Amino acid sequence: MLNVLAVDIGGTNYRVGLFDHEGRRLMVVEEPTHRAGGRDWMLHQIQRHAVSLREKSDFPVKACGISFGGPVDYPRQTVTSLHTPGWKDFEMARWAEQTLGLATRVDNDANAGAWGEFRFGAGRGSRSIFYITISTGIGGGWILDGKPFRGRDGLAGELGHIPVSDSGVICSCGGRGCLETFCSATAIALRARGLAQRKPEAMARVLELSHGDPQNVTAAQVFQAASEGETGAAFIVREAARWLARGLMMVVRLMDPDRIVLGGGVAKAGLALLEPVRQAMEEMGSPTIQASTEVVLAELGDYSPLYGAAGLALDLAAQTV
Ligand SMILES: [Zn+2]
Repeated sequence: MLNVLAVDIGGTNYRVGLFDHEGRRLMVVEEPTHRAGGRDWMLHQIQRHAVSLREKSDFPVKACGISFGGPVDYPRQTVTSLHTPGWKDFEMARWAEQTLGLATRVDNDANAGAWGEFRFGAGRGSRSIFYITISTGIGGGWILDGKPFRGRDGLAGELGHIPVSDSGVICSCGGRGCLETFCSATAIALRARGLAQRKPEAMARVLELSHGDPQNVTAAQVFQAASEGETGAAFIVREAARWLARGLMMVVRLMDPDRIVLGGGVAKAGLALLEPVRQAMEEMGSPTIQASTEVVLAELGDYSPLYGAAGLALDLAAQTV
């Protein structure tokens, strides 16, 4: 019997967890990320919690998996953060191996999320899935024929950065008209704020939820108001769902996976997101090209990448035992 360590380094929260040999979650520490602390602060927290979890483990801890919320050079096992200092080309796996004494594998959060859902969540029992995480931005990861597919530069599945319009809206990536600028949480909130200013009468419930200030409107409030029947909020949701559906139609047409798994903060809206997306995909479909790809919600919620990290660790442990 063995256990493994899983780490999820995110911009908002980080998590360190102990998982058993079948990928069951035994213990998880979850805390807010102190961005100003940069790399040194984060590494110190990981080390501290890893030591404490190992002391509590009933079985030997054999390997470590890490999900990183930023670009990961998978072959070199290095990471880079665009938002916090000290991470450029950092040898993450080597650090963990030297500091924790555990064989370690690192992947980015979208790929880790895909692996987590494939192994332990909504992708169980399938061969190929596309996992999409919709929160402040949009990321995606592929599992094809049972294996993660990362592509030549580790950029496979970057659905959020497909240019889908000549709108000229500048994306977080610096590109223009990316899908992310139409249906991320950020985009939904921005559009809702605009509508709340122009037509407050159509957004009364949203404004109530945001305490009357259009600038405080969040995507979660838009989904809540839409599900309660507010016309303006429902319009914003339908529009975002149509853009997302266009992106997912590309996924279906290109790769025809068994399932598309929707994760990330926006997917917490549940059926309020899923139903308009499915409906739009049906409308955009073809009477002669019958695709049976299912679109489903992630089952592991905020923990998809952490479970994926545990999966990476279990794969390593299986190689080394
Ligand atoms: Zn972009």
